[in-house]
Amino acid sequence: MGVPKDTVVFADSGGFDFSDDEVDTTPERTLETQREIGADLLGTVDIPLLRENRDAENQRRVEQSTQYALQASDAHDGEGLLIGSVHGHDPETVRNTLQYLERHGDFDGYALGSMVPIRTDYKKVTKLILAARQATDKHLHVYGLGGIVYQPLLLYLGVDSFDSSAFIRSAGNRNYLLPGFGGQELHTIEDLEYLPCSCPVCRDRTLDDIREDRDSLTQHNLWSLAMELRRFRYMVAAGEDIEAYLDLRFRGNEVTYRAFKQAKQQVRRLT
Ligand SMILES: [Zn+2]
Repeated sequence: MGVPKDTVVFADSGGFDFSDDEVDTTPERTLETQREIGADLLGTVDIPLLRENRDAENQRRVEQSTQYALQASDAHDGEGLLIGSVHGHDPETVRNTLQYLERHGDFDGYALGSMVPIRTDYKKVTKLILAARQATDKHLHVYGLGGIVYQPLLLYLGVDSFDSSAFIRSAGNRNYLLPGFGGQELHTIEDLEYLPCSCPVCRDRTLDDIREDRDSLTQHNLWSLAMELRRFRYMVAAGEDIEAYLDLRFRGNEVTYRAFKQAKQQVRRLT
């Protein structure tokens, strides 16, 4: 994709793509493919959980993904960092699965999956992430979350990396992401000479330019996420009160503000 050589590449197994079909790969084959594309972090093959109350089927999926992760651990020769996939829609399952992998395999970190179907249930998502964070000091990745709203919340919860196609999907819906405000639908604005962003895409372009060009919109949206991340890191580096910063950051949206307040309470209970 033409990114600089020192860019860290995380390759997941594509689990979500075959969630409705049979798994069409093996843990060994996936490792090989990940190596061929030059990935630095290698996610293990997994089968995402279903949202509906399908406890028996979900339990089977948790166990199958755990076996796949252990097979990958056996096949892993130490090249690249192996990130074991962990699934569970309750904190106990997440904690037990992660500790089981830690005891029986050799992983450089863990990735929490099956978050997409429950992404609007902030309370649940927060609990599951904290359960994983508490169970390991190793690298923690979260699959499928990381848009402009989720990103600061994930950072606050101690997640080390995350992935999301939100910036692409937002561009597809003609949404222009503004850090601190969420998405702005471009068609609601009639006339504006300068864009409210100084990223390399926006600084010399007009609103009409960006409106017509979905690629630019996608790139700007990614820049918004990068700026949000940089700002968070700045606050940490400057020794600022992170909770006070996030309080301000989330205040613009009632739903996410409530999510942050809940997360804050859960974190307080742990410390
Ligand atoms: Zn921009």
